[in-house]
Amino acid sequence: MTTDDRTSKSGVARRAAGSFRPYTFQVIGIILLILVTAGLGVVNPYLTRNVFDDALFPQGIDGQPDIQLLWVLAGIMAAVTVVSGALGILQTWATNIVGQRVMRDLRDRLYTHLQGLSLGFFTGARTGEIQSRIANDVGGIQNVVTNTMSSVLSNIVIFVSTLIAMTLISWQLTVVCVATIPFFFLLSLIVGKKRRKVTSEAQESAAEVTAITHETLSISGIMLAKLFGRQNQEIERFHNENERMATLAIRRQMTGQSFFTLMQIFFSLAPVVIYVLAGYMLTGSFSVGITAGTIVAFTTLQFRLFWPISTLIETSVELQSSLALFERIFGYLDITPDIEDRPNARRVSPGDVRGHVEFDSVRLSYNPDHGDQTAENGARRWALNDINFDIAPGQLAAFVGPSGAGKSTISYLIPRLYDPTSGAIRIDGTDVRDIRQESLAGIVGYVTQESYLFHDTLKNNLLYAMPDATMEEIEIAAKAAFIHDRIMELPDGYDTVVGERGYRLSGGERQRLSIARVILHDPRILILDEATSALDTTSERHVQAALEPLMRDRTTIAIAHRLSTIMSADVIYVVDEGRIVEYGTHAQLLETCGLYASLYQEQFDGGRVESRCEDGIVMVDGNILTHDDILTAPAAD
Ligand code: ATP
Repeated sequence: MTTDDRTSKSGVARRAAGSFRPYTFQVIGIILLILVTAGLGVVNPYLTRNVFDDALFPQGIDGQPDIQLLWVLAGIMAAVTVVSGALGILQTWATNIVGQRVMRDLRDRLYTHLQGLSLGFFTGARTGEIQSRIANDVGGIQNVVTNTMSSVLSNIVIFVSTLIAMTLISWQLTVVCVATIPFFFLLSLIVGKKRRKVTSEAQESAAEVTAITHETLSISGIMLAKLFGRQNQEIERFHNENERMATLAIRRQMTGQSFFTLMQIFFSLAPVVIYVLAGYMLTGSFSVGITAGTIVAFTTLQFRLFWPISTLIETSVELQSSLALFERIFGYLDITPDIEDRPNARRVSPGDVRGHVEFDSVRLSYNPDHGDQTAENGARRWALNDINFDIAPGQLAAFVGPSGAGKSTISYLIPRLYDPTSGAIRIDGTDVRDIRQESLAGIVGYVTQESYLFHDTLKNNLLYAMPDATMEEIEIAAKAAFIHDRIMELPDGYDTVVGERGYRLSGGERQRLSIARVILHDPRILILDEATSALDTTSERHVQAALEPLMRDRTTIAIAHRLSTIMSADVIYVVDEGRIVEYGTHAQLLETCGLYASLYQEQFDGGRVESRCEDGIVMVDGNILTHDDILTAPAAD
């Protein structure tokens, strides 16, 4: 299928139908059931004629009824009713089974596919939209996959079988009846259109109420409203939308009711027309075959002719809107994962990794469509430009620089949260794209400023890093991260459940927990992205103490704003506007008198040390500073 085919209406319909392919046998079974039940449905009205003409009044209105035939016919009619009822239950069961399986498969496919997409996709998606596609869009097609498909088929079969039965009873009356179909069709179409409009407005309004609730009653939303004193406005906004929802719900109910009333009027009038017409036919010259039984049977069948038409009109709308849902679901499934294992990517065991990290002419653009120039919104084309460095196994390398310089972006490339636009990142000489992603995750550990915890027990949060860890290993890790004692103070110890996003723990505690998680993960390469910036000085000292043994026998990449935390790094890279502008040790960089020296000066300014670079020499209070002076200088926080 080409892209155009896939996105055209018929393409989407074909793909939607394709979701039923694994259940072909069941679908065939359902179709057979529909054919049989719909066919059986005309038997009783058809037999009504025989009941009247042959059993009740075989010799005219004053004659004796044929009781024996009456019993036979009544028996057949009862049997048909019971059998079609039983088949109906079977059909509902089968359609639900198939429908629910189709939905389950779609949800599974969507979730699996989304898990494979890169971070870039998630940063670009609207909050809640992804969850909504899995929950609402797949939920939205439930009716179509469980009811509508079978409803369309059975209504068509009912319509055709009824038409045949009516023609067999009296083709003359059938012609008259068919002539009224366009009028009925038009009526259903007009009222149906109005109903749909109100329904979709009501749904929009309901969605808006949900969105407002979701947005404003989340932890962040309620905090924002409280802090900015916007609660009254929020209440007002909710009230207005709530009011609109209620009004629309009433309108929806009323249009629904008028639709049914119109249908009822039509259904009541249709037999009346037939009675009058039959009366004329009986008195006129073309009373061909018109009997009391014909009229009763015919008018009973009439219902079965009109009802499917109005249901089909309704269903066609539902099908169209569900096609739109299918289209959105397929839209997600069609996004090609931009970060995939190369065909020959191999598994690497963490034990075999030394931890040599190399960036070779790396460039990265988050906005690849913006040409070589700065994008219209001011975003730089290159978030990283010509990045080269080489970190030896076991080294501590620090990345510093102004906000937005590209430090985090550099760190994202090592575990392949993003791939570079050009250039290569190598671990022990192997391009990271040639390492299977799951083994790369075992090699690289990441501690960020915002540590995410699942709504689960502390123990399970820690086990996420190493599912088969023993309680003893967990405790060793927690002790090393200086969080064990705090955990033991909690009511349920390691079984304490942390709230949504870990809200019941302080920032520093969350941070230490995530460090314990990385200790358990035991990666060869450790990335610390502002890992201690959320902590106070005491906690920071604790965490630094926890990090030191952790860093000792592995390659560590530390991103830090507070220079005091990385002054002892083996090498410091200074990043500015996506480029590495300087590198060296703390002392060497101070001596260079470049960006690092001025960042250092800014952080230690106004305090006990004032350093100035003049002609490449670091000056403090007019005196030239030696390296030892710089390293031993007291730092202001
Ligand atoms: P900070 O110290 O403030 O955390 P940083 O040096 O780590 O900053 P990055 O987060 O790497 O900077 O961002 C580098 C640039 O890339 C910034 O201009 C940022 O706006 C941009 N950027 C980061 N992530 C994305 C993204 N997902 N899509 C588009 N642009 C992005």
